[in-house]
Amino acid sequence: MTIHKIHYSKEDPKRANVVNYSCNFNCGWCLYRLKTKPKNKYMEVKEIKHILNDMEINGVNFLGGEITTYPHLEELTYFTHEVLGVHTKIGHTNGYISPPDYIDTIGISIKMFSDELHKKYTGKSNKPILKNFENTHDKGVQIKASTIYIPDLVDDEEIGKIAKFIGTVDPEIKLHITGYIKIPGTPWRIPTYDEMINAKEVAESYLENVDFSLYSSVNDYENKFSKNIG
Ligand code: SF4
Repeated sequence: MTIHKIHYSKEDPKRANVVNYSCNFNCGWCLYRLKTKPKNKYMEVKEIKHILNDMEINGVNFLGGEITTYPHLEELTYFTHEVLGVHTKIGHTNGYISPPDYIDTIGISIKMFSDELHKKYTGKSNKPILKNFENTHDKGVQIKASTIYIPDLVDDEEIGKIAKFIGTVDPEIKLHITGYIKIPGTPWRIPTYDEMINAKEVAESYLENVDFSLYSSVNDYENKFSKNIG
């Protein structure tokens, strides 16, 4: 049991964010691991359903760590999609575990195209990820893809291969490239704005919709975005 928090978002659609703690990868650049282990107790499925049932929501976003490691995820996607009748989303996943049924949209991060690099830097092969990406698209789930530009590791060449792969699945899938955010003790630097522009242009050789974000620090990122990640 690794769901430790549910919070409400007033954005459109009004939604509940169901937040997991745990991951099956070991990425050296992981921001999430900077967070301390949650102090509140993990929630039972029954309790989660009860809370969601009482909320006025139009959607549920499942996220945090690697949400697909949560063993009761499909029970919750079934409950929210089929019983509550709301939009269901997996905010972000590394794609290693096949996502559950009963989801409308999903964010899948492809960290590297080279399997050797992927194994070395995440601890796992990317072969299941590429397969799950294709299968998820074939099921009609709307995918938003993402990757991280890490200078001298995941640069133009790797980004180009990732974009080319996504383009073979569907060139209309959106790709978001996040510039690496410096984690203390890691060997990589933050990319420059020009490097991000170049990476975007490389990806646009294969995809119709590519954008990027670049943050100067973890604080900069958290101030703008990360209240939902854990
Ligand atoms: S998959 Fe995401 S949460 Fe898991 S270790 Fe990698 S960066 Fe962190």
